[in-house]
Parts: sequence; structure tokens; C-alpha cells
Amino acid sequence: MARKIQKTEDEWKKELSPAEYQVCRQKGTEPPFTGKYYASKEPGVYKCVACGNPLFDSKTKFESGTGWPSFYQPVSPENVEIDEDHSYGMRRTEVMCNACGAHLGHVFPDGPKPTGLRYCINSVALKLEDK
Ligand SMILES: [Zn+2]
Repeated sequence: MARKIQKTEDEWKKELSPAEYQVCRQKGTEPPFTGKYYASKEPGVYKCVACGNPLFDSKTKFESGTGWPSFYQPVSPENVEIDEDHSYGMRRTEVMCNACGAHLGHVFPDGPKPTGLRYCINSVALKLEDK
């Protein structure tokens, strides 16, 4: 499936900060309780830091206690891409930005109602904007 936004790794490297590049392009994970959004209660829409695609609404954010921003659903299912991730011998489900392919985090089946899902997302992959 072709992405709306396609850039070379060199272009991404120039546009993103080293921390953003490490998470978004190299599927890194920020240390828990260090990101700027894990405890944030500011209203707004969390967008992809790499391309501005709206990803999560602050209304669907909940306190998971994990140290990462957690949401129970994306703004729209089409805005994210879900992929099975078998790296490090673990079976996890990866969440990516559907527009640019940035790695965002993982989704787990232990979230609250109404979806029962927990989208565990790196702060550094997000940019909060007021509506
Ligand atoms: Zn994106």
C-alpha cells in the first residue's frame, strides 16, 4: 500500500530531532515517565510529529500508569496502521501513522471500555494541538 507521504531516510533525519527519528523511523521506545505527554490532561488532538496527521483525541486518553500516553481509540481507524510485530521475541501489535509510516507505539488488549484496547504511544511521536 502506497503511503501519502514518502521521504528518504536522509530527509527524515534532517526534519526530525534525533529522539523523534529514533522512535518514528527506527521503532525506538522512549523511557517511561520521561515523555512530555504521559500525564498530560490538556484538551486537543494529538498529531503525528512527523507529518501532522491527526491520530488521537485527548478525550480518549486515559491514565494507564505505564508512563506512556495511552488512548483507547484513534481519531479514525484509517489514520493509523496496525501491524504484528515479532521483534525481540515478543508478540506485540505495532501502531504506525498511516500517512507517513512513523512508528508510534503498540496496542494491547487490556484497555478500558468501550474498546478494551490500550494504544501505548511514545510522547515524542506526538504533537498536541488545540482544536
Ligand atoms: Zn505521520
